[in-house]
Amino acid sequence: MKILVINAGSSSLKYQLINMDDQSVMAKGLCERIGIDGRLTHSKDGEKFQKELPLNDHGDAIQAVLDSLTDKDMGVIASMDEINAVGHRVVHGGEAFSGSALITEAVMKALNDCIELAPLHNPPNITGIEACAKIMPGVPQVGVFDTAFHQTMPKKSYLYAIPYKFYEDYKIRRYGFHGTSHKYVSMKAAEYLGKPIEELKIVTCHLGNGSSITAVDGGKSIDTSMGFTPLAGIMMGTRSGDIDPAIVEFIANKENIPVSKVLSILNKESGALGISGISSDFRDLSKAADEGNERAQIALDIFAYGVQKYIGTYAAAMGGIDALVFTAGIGENDAELREKVASKLGFMGIEINKDKNNTRGTVDITADGAKVKTLVIPTNEELMIALETQKLV
Ligand code: AMP
Repeated sequence: MKILVINAGSSSLKYQLINMDDQSVMAKGLCERIGIDGRLTHSKDGEKFQKELPLNDHGDAIQAVLDSLTDKDMGVIASMDEINAVGHRVVHGGEAFSGSALITEAVMKALNDCIELAPLHNPPNITGIEACAKIMPGVPQVGVFDTAFHQTMPKKSYLYAIPYKFYEDYKIRRYGFHGTSHKYVSMKAAEYLGKPIEELKIVTCHLGNGSSITAVDGGKSIDTSMGFTPLAGIMMGTRSGDIDPAIVEFIANKENIPVSKVLSILNKESGALGISGISSDFRDLSKAADEGNERAQIALDIFAYGVQKYIGTYAAAMGGIDALVFTAGIGENDAELREKVASKLGFMGIEINKDKNNTRGTVDITADGAKVKTLVIPTNEELMIALETQKLV
């Protein structure tokens, strides 16, 4: 079975064609500047192709993807008929989706109802589905939601202590994000440890440009650091993470700016960038800190401290922890950060082996004799989307 995975953003669209027989990526690429002019980058077997071409809308982009996949030079399939299904990343499924869903008219309606929960992300996701449905009629489409994995959270985790009617009337609650990644790495961790996931208490740390941490008890998310929106939780590249909500009005008054502008600052000008004043990229921060930049060092310290605190919190929430998983750009690559995070957690059985931690590609970085397994597992959201799609079709 061959599955096309689509991740549609407002002006970009990422894709991968995955052969499910061996889970290999046959080809992948990116359409950019949709609605502006248009550029396509496509790769197969390590060979890269780039094309400038008009991409007026997502329909054009999907057509360009299909043309590339079937092209005599760039292509990997003879015709579009070889694509058995399409899996779409959808950011917000609200309370309507606790799992992935085969796209039907009813599902499209429910998706449209979720737009107000993710006004920037869901519309392009929906446009991507509509474009595929039009260009590839009869090919099953599946929506895989960033929020779905967290729908197992109990009320005590997902309700905010604000008047209950706001939950009832407006569905204001914690939803959590990166669910596809948290699900994938927790599944892989169980596989690696050779234990049924139902018997494991795992804390998964997805640490990238956006970061979130999840308590996965018996294979189910029981709590997660992001909230109603992906702004909540630990400090991130440009997002503040949790702050006292009173700060919003205070800044608005002091700076004489609307609340929407404050929110934009909290999303785009805060986090590691806001603290350091240098960059949101952790590689830049490490370099600057090594060169003696104090604010870069503080940014790194706040981040590591935040991760540390969430691990403690979630171990307490689950009444223990068997495995700790690091994933995503920072989690997979930043050995120093992992070491810093683990440094205070010896009391709860988390200890990492320095040499293993510094060796790229090592999955198990646990120190000999440590009670908790610490693993570095590269996330693969595209494969997870393909697996979910395969399950449904
Ligand atoms: P992601 O959103 O998962 O692509 O992660 C992006 C983040 O990962 C950026 O902050 C990068 O600086 C960070 N990152 C990538 N490679 C490294 C590395 N070798 N060391 C530290 N941070 C890294």
